[in-house]
Amino acid sequence: MLQEQEAHAAELERTFIAIKPDGVQRGLISEIVSRFERKGFKLVAIKIVIPSKDFAQKHYHDLSERPFFNGLCDFLSSGPVLAMVWEGEGVIKYGRKLIGATDPQKSEPGTIRGDLAVVVGRNIIHGSDGPETAKDEINLWFKPDELVSYTSNAEKWIYGAN
Ligand code: GDP
Ligand code: MG
Repeated sequence: MLQEQEAHAAELERTFIAIKPDGVQRGLISEIVSRFERKGFKLVAIKIVIPSKDFAQKHYHDLSERPFFNGLCDFLSSGPVLAMVWEGEGVIKYGRKLIGATDPQKSEPGTIRGDLAVVVGRNIIHGSDGPETAKDEINLWFKPDELVSYTSNAEKWIYGAN
């Protein structure tokens, strides 16, 4: 049993998820956390921080040429952000599904942005868009010792024994 769990743990991936200042101020932390938690993903790091503008620019460096970049970085650094790392099979891609399309006008109902946001500049949540960005964003926001590796008792019920 232990071997099975260890073998399984090696396959699990991690993604960086952040509730932006609008989601925090609107009281949506528990609603959003619960969607990831109920799905069966595992929370391995969490903290609340007010990022500096410089830090926000690092986080969004790949968008530096876009016209909304400055406003976006001002916004991300305008208040508390809930930074998290979630772990689970397929969590990077499926996390993006839970979040929904970037523009809430185009997000499906049932997704976080579809249900809880209206405009693209206030779309309440960030999620890594691939394995490389997940790694980079986790390293930017968290020190290694802030990530907690553990086996949840529910895992055998979420994944079965293979
Ligand atoms: P995401 O990965 O779905 O968050 O989308 P992107 O990585 O393309 O963009 C990052 C963030 O920039 C989005 O979540 C939005 O908050 C913001 N953003 C993206 N496109 C636009 C836009 O056209 N206008 C504005 N104001 N903000 C945008
Ligand atoms: Mg993105």
